[in-house]
Amino acid sequence: MAYDFDLVTIGAGSGGTRATRLAASYGARAAVVEEYRVGGTCVIRGCIPKKLLVYASRFSEDFEDAAAFGWHVPHHEFKWSTLIANKDREIARLEAAYTKNMASAGAELFEDRAVLRDPHTVHLLKADKTITAETILIATGGRAWIPDSVDGGDLAITSNEAFLLPDLPHSVMIVGGGYIAVEFAGIFCGLGSKTILVHHGDEILRGFDHEVRAQMRHELQKRGVDVLIKSSVVSIRRDGPRKRVRMADGTEHLVDEIMFAVGRRPNTSALGLEHCGVEMTERRAVKVDATSRSSQANIYAVGDVTDRVNLTPVAIREGAAFAESLYNNKPTIVDHTNIATAVFGTPEIGVVGLTEERACALYPKVDVYRTAFRPMKATMTGRDTQVFMKLVIDAETDRVLGCHIVGEAAAEMIQCVAVAVKMNATKADFDATMALHPSAAEELMLLKLRVK
Ligand code: NDP
Repeated sequence: MAYDFDLVTIGAGSGGTRATRLAASYGARAAVVEEYRVGGTCVIRGCIPKKLLVYASRFSEDFEDAAAFGWHVPHHEFKWSTLIANKDREIARLEAAYTKNMASAGAELFEDRAVLRDPHTVHLLKADKTITAETILIATGGRAWIPDSVDGGDLAITSNEAFLLPDLPHSVMIVGGGYIAVEFAGIFCGLGSKTILVHHGDEILRGFDHEVRAQMRHELQKRGVDVLIKSSVVSIRRDGPRKRVRMADGTEHLVDEIMFAVGRRPNTSALGLEHCGVEMTERRAVKVDATSRSSQANIYAVGDVTDRVNLTPVAIREGAAFAESLYNNKPTIVDHTNIATAVFGTPEIGVVGLTEERACALYPKVDVYRTAFRPMKATMTGRDTQVFMKLVIDAETDRVLGCHIVGEAAAEMIQCVAVAVKMNATKADFDATMALHPSAAEELMLLKLRVK
């Protein structure tokens, strides 16, 4: 049977566009269906605009610190509307570039909502027409959510809306203790909003090394973020232009905005996947094998919709591996181990490999080296902040199992450390590497104090 396309991808985010573009460049008749904007979460309302807002938020500390270096900054004023307009312009540029690259590779774009009729047929809702494909790739990502248990939850926003607020809120409550919550706490606090971070657990950033979690909470608190742990929101009511938030312990807070950042859910609802024999996980992610193939042989899925490692570069690798395997005769499997990740809070967190807890669970003997020091810049400014670094070592082989950094430029550092960790570098290799002085990163080569 002749299909309209070799490949139809649903979702033009990081994973979907990479897969479709590569497939088209290898000669496949490829199309992508996108209901919102080309670029997906990362480009439109995630990593990229977030990082731009993070940059903006850090100027306040820079202005303060400048005085110790002889700069007199007499007057500074922040204009949210300028930041958002410039951010929007940059996002539009990137969206246009993504769209152009796909078209140049020969892939067709349908700006529509796709629903699967059967494993080979896609219904385009707006155009009310169907297209057929030999292979379908689901790359619909994840979506933010607000718990139903919160009375008045419709008055809250998620990160989607935070990027589009007309004004900077004077006060904001952020609910959650993960990547997005910590990053936005840094953004709002740095821009001057009174910021409250509400987390239901006993420490923020579950899954990170226990010392990193505590260090990051202290750093947020030092910068003025009010971190409420073991705390949760019960209801939200309007109070004039503001929102009155009632907490489980009976206390109330009056804030301009309340933002939920309580994880993202795989975007699989109303796609017609169930009728096509596509199995889901308990969290309603598309269940896939190592080749990203679902339980329906011609349907594949990549990126956050599969709920493996929900990071942009992972989605891109999965999309590329899919296209290489199917359209370039190069079977490729993505290695999901030792992926470096960063939380772009202020300061940043950069980690790769195992936490101390995880290493201890997996290896018979684990050595831990740790340091915490005042960064050089802060010796001049007197700013109360510390850089934290930790190496987790397999004591039997001397291999570095994990590296954890909290501090300025941690993301930049950890990306390079990840090469060493991926190559099975040992602590002796780190010791043998000449330090680069003066830098914060050199401390990783000079770690002498074994704390465990
Ligand atoms: P995370 O999974 O990082 O964090 C979710 C947070 O919400 C956790 O602290 C969790 O607490 C808490 N939580 C979960 N359910 C509830 C609830 N019902 N009520 C209150 N709190 C709750 O999700 P994010 O939304 O921060 O980010 C989504 C994903 O996007 C991340 O996991 C990451 O994969 C990706 N991302 C990556 C970034 C980066 O690379 N820099 C930046 C932003 C996002 P607990 O776990 O303790 O239960």
